Formats: sequence, structure tokens, C-alpha cells
Amino acid sequence: MPVDERVRSPSQRREALKQLLGQARQCVRCPGLASTRKTVVFGAGNADAELMFVGEAPGASEDEQGLPFVGRAGKLLNTLLAEIGLERSQVFIANTLMCRPPGNRDPQPVEIDNCHEYLLRKVELIQPTVICTLGNFSTKLLRGDPTGITRLHGEPEVIVLGTRAVRLYPIYHPAAALYTPRMLETLREDFLRLPQLLALGAPEQPAPQELPELAPEPASRQDAGAPGAGATGAETRERVDQLGLF
Ligand code: URA
Repeated sequence: MPVDERVRSPSQRREALKQLLGQARQCVRCPGLASTRKTVVFGAGNADAELMFVGEAPGASEDEQGLPFVGRAGKLLNTLLAEIGLERSQVFIANTLMCRPPGNRDPQPVEIDNCHEYLLRKVELIQPTVICTLGNFSTKLLRGDPTGITRLHGEPEVIVLGTRAVRLYPIYHPAAALYTPRMLETLREDFLRLPQLLALGAPEQPAPQELPELAPEPASRQDAGAPGAGATGAETRERVDQLGLF
């Protein structure tokens, strides 16, 4: 029976996040991506972060290193964070997809769908107050609506994801802003409003009777024969701690 994460301690939720990482590393829900990826880019940062970013999908550098936003877009993200007095270690950074689409093609709907449950589980476990979606893919996914980022950027709204009400804040994707000075200016302006939004604290949470059934752990749909499926819990824990993802 799934657990209501709102009653678990931060350290219990962090342990559950590590277990989810172990499962993600074995995921073969998208056989094509599983066969071409070098690593599963689960996400990284503070497991108890107030602020979570959701980008699109890993690129070549992220796939190599197993960490999100480590290429040029990531450097811009670091700069923008520093401008509001934050470091990566204070936030959590994830993507709509955990595996690199070959040739950096767009994520496909079925791939986004396969990875969605992992993303919702991360939100449940981390319990952020603000989720900042970077660009179109994560904005459309989390709002469940095709309205694009050009119309929505810089406009916060409260949405319920799984069991949690969060302040969703769509902004342009840093990669898009790298080569377009006007977009970079807008991204920076939107970014500068993040501290104000964080200062509002968590939005009012849904009453228990308003909640849908809690999402089952992705593990309950565990893919048989996944690479590394034989790893013991101890081995998984060791790999996680070595990487120091969160
Ligand atoms: N772009 C993304 O959307 N995510 C990454 O992790 C890197 C680049």
C-alpha cells in the first residue's frame, strides 16, 4: 500500500528517493532509450528542496556524467541561481525524461508518459514549494495542457501534483536563451521573481478527502529482466552514496 509522504520525515523521504534512484537505473520502459543511454539522469540536488526545476531531457554531457544540466545550459542555470543567492546544492534539478533521446531529438509522448510516474514520485518525496518548469515540455506535462511557454512564462499558478499542491512557475529553457539575447533578458527577469515566490511558502494543501488515490511506487510495475536487476540493496546504496546525488 503506498505511503502518504506528508507524514514521513525528511530522512525517510530521502531514503525512499534513493530507492527510487535504484529502480530508475534499471528502467527499460523505453527500450530504445535504455539501449542507447550511457546513464540514467535521475536528477540531483537537495532531497528536501523548497525549489525544484524540471527541464526537458539529458543531452550528451548529462548522459556522460549522469547529472542534469552540466552542459552550457547548465552553466547558465548556475549563473542565474547565483544571481538570486542560491546554489545547486539548495535546489533539486530533474527533467521530464531521465534518458537522453539520441541525437538530442525531442522527447516522444510515449517516453514522457513512461517517465511521468518517476517525476511525480520525486515531487511527492522531495515536497517542493515551487516547481519551476524550464521550457515547453515540462510546462505542458505538469499543467496537463498544450499552452506554450511564450504565453505562460513568468506567471505562477497553484496546481496539485499527486498529493501535493505546489506553486508552478514556468520560465524559458536556458538552452533556448543561450543564443537569443531578448529571451535571456526575459529569463533573467522571470528568475529574479523566484525569491518572492519562495517567500510565499507552501500553498494551502488539499484536504485528505480531495486527494486521488496515492500513486503506487514505479517499482510495482518493475520491468523484468532490466539491466542490473540483480543488484542488491546494499550495492545500490553504495553506488548512490558514491555519486552524492542528493
Ligand atoms: N537540457 C535539459 O533540459 N536538461 C538537461 O539536463 C540538460 C539540458
